[in-house]
Amino acid sequence: IKNNFKMQTKYIFVTGGVVSSIGKGIVAASLGRLLKNRGLSVSIIKLDPYINIDAGTMSPFQHGEVFVTEDGAETDLDLGHYERFIDTALSRKNNVTAGRVYQNVINKERKGDYLSGTVQVIPHITDEIKESIKAIAQEGFQIVITEIGGTVGDIEGLPFIEAIRQIKKDVGRENVLYLHVTLVPSISTNGEQKTKPTQHSVKELRSYGIQPDILVCRTDKALPPSVKEKLSLFCDVDIAAVIEGRDVESIYDVPLALETAGLAKQIIERLNIKCNEAKWNGWLEVANNLKKAEKTVSIAIVGKYVALSDAYISVCESLKHAGAKLGCKINIKWVHADEQIEKSDAKSFVGDVDGILVPGGFGDRGIEGKIEAIRYARENNIPFLGLCLGMQCAIIEYARDVCDMNGANSTEFDAKTPYPVIDLMEHQKDVVNRGGTMRLGKWDCKVATDSQLFKLYGKELISERHRHRYEVNNKYIDILSKKGLKFSGMSPDGKLVEIIELPEHKWFVASQFHPEFKSRPDNPHPLFVGFIQAAMKNKQ
Ligand code: GLN
Repeated sequence: IKNNFKMQTKYIFVTGGVVSSIGKGIVAASLGRLLKNRGLSVSIIKLDPYINIDAGTMSPFQHGEVFVTEDGAETDLDLGHYERFIDTALSRKNNVTAGRVYQNVINKERKGDYLSGTVQVIPHITDEIKESIKAIAQEGFQIVITEIGGTVGDIEGLPFIEAIRQIKKDVGRENVLYLHVTLVPSISTNGEQKTKPTQHSVKELRSYGIQPDILVCRTDKALPPSVKEKLSLFCDVDIAAVIEGRDVESIYDVPLALETAGLAKQIIERLNIKCNEAKWNGWLEVANNLKKAEKTVSIAIVGKYVALSDAYISVCESLKHAGAKLGCKINIKWVHADEQIEKSDAKSFVGDVDGILVPGGFGDRGIEGKIEAIRYARENNIPFLGLCLGMQCAIIEYARDVCDMNGANSTEFDAKTPYPVIDLMEHQKDVVNRGGTMRLGKWDCKVATDSQLFKLYGKELISERHRHRYEVNNKYIDILSKKGLKFSGMSPDGKLVEIIELPEHKWFVASQFHPEFKSRPDNPHPLFVGFIQAAMKNKQ
């Protein structure tokens, strides 16, 4: 349903005020969905003001999941929302950090590109930021949505705010729109909704030369006309452009809520966009299925960042996508591998669930607990899905318990293990730099036609995204397969193990790749569908 209207690229900038975690990412992603619904081609960029070159070196504790793109960029988790909402694979160009901007500018300076000039924040850093936004537009998108990370007023955000202010002059005022996401809190004593924080945040934004065109006001209840009027008056935004962004049950309800609140209409009118009528194409069914699903399964996620589910956000969303397709709600039970299982036993924490999932991770904390959980799943015929580290732990468990390799381990956790069933590849052994040096991004995988995975995927050649340094040690494939483990997916050259399964088990599958990065609400990933199907059956 692409539309054929020739148009100059329109730029929409999304900033946030008052508090962090206000949901700018979901607003940007939802807006992308609303415009895609109208046949427009949309791309979304996240500008992150931190100095890291990318999110790959940041702890999920602080910053949530590291999302991985097809081309192997380690990005902010918002890119995951963008991909899921606009159903488009993004690339490293879609996440620009201050670190990357400065690195590019400094590289140019060293090459002599600015000879005789003083290199400054304005114009050099701001130009570099503008170039990275325009580079996406040049790929031919009709709409480029740019989300600026952080909150207006942050020191490190200033060059980004200045760059998006300047773009208006570069590409024409009629092609630029500023959307500010803000908070309208209620006072607990009398329930009154307060506009002052928004007024202050808009004042701050204006002090940098940006007057927002649209406000999306996050609130826990309806915004009454009187509050809208006040916001309109003090922030100088048309009343129709004060959009209610009320809390909803699921993030997949946000696009419809914003559509109903008139967001897309405002954008289209203000930017004078010619487009088709909106078509939802399956999105609303997914959102509804999630709510009206009558069945439930409980899935234990055994990890170490379990207090903060943002660390595993794509995994959680993928479970929901599969649930929406199968008419089943997912109850996630967070289990601490170290503080719970290691201090007691697996049964007490995963003994009551319908399926067990061990996600990816780094470092040795909680490893033994994860291995215990996997043993419990294997021995008690409980559906199991292992992802990346989860697969590596499944191999370790099988080696130790079924193949009598006492002390088998990954050299990541025990450099002196007698059975290094998971090990570094030769070319990884001399790698010193931590950032961007793992096996990253999309890799092809050949699925064995006699596996249960082949039935799920329905094809032999698949492509999935990776993010890991260690691999299954091929020396042990023979013995592991003789004892019943099936290596059901390998890299096309046969050198790297990509998926394993246990044919005798109800459902025991683990992948070296991360299927969660490719699941979409209306196109759930086959591994998650297979897993939830098995968990539903197990519950019966
Ligand atoms: N730590 C493991 C490795 O580097 C697994 C990584 C992951 O789960 N993403 O290979």
